[in-house]
Amino acid sequence: MKETYDIAVIGTGPAGLSAALNCVSRNKKFIIIGPKQGSKKLEMAKKVDNYLGFISDSGKKLNQTFTGIIKRFNLNHLDTMVNQIYTMPDVFFIELKDGSTVSAKSVVLATGINMERGIKNEELYLPYGISYCPTCDANLYKDKEICVIGYNEDSIEETIFLSGISSKVYFVNMTKKVIDFDNPNIEVINKKPTSFELDGEKLLLNLEGDMLKADGYFVLKDSKSPENLVPGVEVEKGHIKVDANFETNLKGLFACGDLIGQPYQIGKAVGEGNICGLSASKYIERLNRR
Ligand SMILES: Cc1cc2nc3c(=O)[nH]c(=O)nc-3n(C[C@H](O)[C@H](O)[C@H](O)COP(=O)(O)OP(=O)(O)OC[C@H]3O[C@@H](n4cnc5c(N)ncnc54)[C@H](O)[C@@H]3O)c2cc1C
Repeated sequence: MKETYDIAVIGTGPAGLSAALNCVSRNKKFIIIGPKQGSKKLEMAKKVDNYLGFISDSGKKLNQTFTGIIKRFNLNHLDTMVNQIYTMPDVFFIELKDGSTVSAKSVVLATGINMERGIKNEELYLPYGISYCPTCDANLYKDKEICVIGYNEDSIEETIFLSGISSKVYFVNMTKKVIDFDNPNIEVINKKPTSFELDGEKLLLNLEGDMLKADGYFVLKDSKSPENLVPGVEVEKGHIKVDANFETNLKGLFACGDLIGQPYQIGKAVGEGNICGLSASKYIERLNRR
């Protein structure tokens, strides 16, 4: 049987890596999950002038320094994305991009904020055939028609994979690149999705006024909204709600960084990550004393 970690930190940006440091200091059995490249946002900052001790240099350099701790402290790290987190009493099941799972008694969520807005009605009509994980759900659509709303490189590969299972794939191209799959099973649509609409039990996608009807829809982008990532987590005005210890409404689930609110700053993310790692460690120590 696979081991259950004390703590799983999700996200390799400033908040997640800072949380990881306290998990190391408190000697917890932990894992950090997220891309080895760290924070794309930080990478985009041309010049960082407001982070104490770091004098006027690029966000890229700071990001490299931050992610460098993975090697330096030999952190237990999985270079992948989390697809969904399921909450059970005293344990969380973390489903990864490839469909496999990791379990942990506590989770620190540090996945940043999603700058891309979701599609209108996406959350409302989730049970009518919207998915985020081709590996997990492709078999539901064997010989059926599906639509991929693809925002990244990964979505191109996943579309090719899905075209081998379903009878037809519509690829709504949100990648900002010209794409030609050269595959009769795949139709590329270069229109923006404006909303999901329900026609009886059937889900339709509104593409700038044209309605597309498919059996299932895969929304594939780099990050998901918090309520899609962790069903049941309390969100207020787009941010996860936490208490003074950075614990959410779900016992054992902590959150920090941009994900819990403004100002969106490196210093705030690092500070909150630090407290979050400590809060999660103390939660485990209390759990083990029970
Ligand atoms: C252009 C730009 C310039 C900026 N300049 C400054 C500045 O000068 N000074 C300043 O203080 N701040 C600046 N910021 C803001 C700063 O970058 C953020 O406040 C900070 O990076 C937030 O850290 P975070 O860890 O909360 O989130 P992020 O940095 O967004 O990190 C989130 C991490 O979670 C990972 N992740 C997301 N979803 C998943 C998932 N499902 N599974 C696993 N991992 C996941 C991401 O890949 C990433 O590693 C700037 C931001 C931008 C966009």
